[in-house]
Amino acid sequence: MAYERTNIQRMQGYVPGKQPQDAGTIKLNTNENPYPPSPNVMHALTTVAAESLRKYPPPLADGFREVAAQLHGVTSDHVIATNGGDELLRLALTTFVEPGQPIGVLEPSYSLYPVLAEIHNSPVVRVDALPDYSAPQEFADTLNAQGVQLTLLVNPHAPSGALTSVSSLVALAKQLKGVLLVDEAYVDFVDPTLAHNLVPHIKSMPNLLLLRTLSKGYSLAGLRYGYGLGHVDLIAPMLQKTRDSYNVDAIAQRLAVAALQDQTYAQDTWQRVRAERARMTTALRDLGFTVPASQSNFLLATVSPLMPSASMLRDELERRGLLVRYFNAPGLTDKLRITIGAPAENDRLLTALSTCLANA
Ligand SMILES: *Cc1c(COP(=O)(O)O)cnc(C)c1O
Repeated sequence: MAYERTNIQRMQGYVPGKQPQDAGTIKLNTNENPYPPSPNVMHALTTVAAESLRKYPPPLADGFREVAAQLHGVTSDHVIATNGGDELLRLALTTFVEPGQPIGVLEPSYSLYPVLAEIHNSPVVRVDALPDYSAPQEFADTLNAQGVQLTLLVNPHAPSGALTSVSSLVALAKQLKGVLLVDEAYVDFVDPTLAHNLVPHIKSMPNLLLLRTLSKGYSLAGLRYGYGLGHVDLIAPMLQKTRDSYNVDAIAQRLAVAALQDQTYAQDTWQRVRAERARMTTALRDLGFTVPASQSNFLLATVSPLMPSASMLRDELERRGLLVRYFNAPGLTDKLRITIGAPAENDRLLTALSTCLANA
């Protein structure tokens, strides 16, 4: 007999991208930053004191929250530190959604959202994105009509990289009756000339919560560190009630501070990724793929009907030691999501793709 709750028995669980531990594979499948973390971070790691491991860490990660608050021009009561951005998603569900009540998502988007809803026993109201991956006009009305208490929206959009403007997001937050969590996992890679910044709106919008992570922009996916930015009334219950007592460990807090404090280094990696993103967009289009403009660190390439299928190309690339992401999901079966790597990795991908297409 099974002891699991029925909703847990029913669910499949999140399927992560492949994480091979050998150094030879070129990983363009899970959107890591191709550059190492800042030397500041590695230095902080060598200076971790035994005493800081013997004792419990600062429970609210006050030092980190102060640094993050300064970076974003807010006070630290607008900030919560989390064990990866993923913990913030889970906290948002447990804090703002009555079990059994629905959450809202745009389709397609991050495949973890419906998994977290299943754990919480919440149905998911799915609204199809427009062909440019933005939300349709009726998005808010549809979600409000279904009693949605939390909407999860990733921007820049995953898996396309499309960017929704600050004004559209503010308008959406005003229309929605529930909380709007804008998942900004990839926002560091947005072209700075667009001056895209939603943070100034968190003080006046009582239902706007932003997710940030150090996994992508700061090259620290292995550290598991993220944070939320939002109205004090959203942050306070998560900070004081629903969070695990010591949700971010002492080493992680130290390294996260060191990472945020080296903005020059991080921004340099973002700029390199943007330059390669532009080059790869053109190169993939030249090979015959349809590739929408991306403001993220990945591209969504649609395979033409003249080519082998997307899943076949994924397999062919894997045989050549290159991992890219294929989603067997509605609207995505003819597409590959390709992370922007370092220049030499991207060259390897282009060469391998040319070979696969020539042999087909
Ligand atoms: C990577 C990512 C996150 C957060 O990931 P963590 O590694 O848990 O910080 C959140 N949303 C999306 C869409 C992501 O791709």
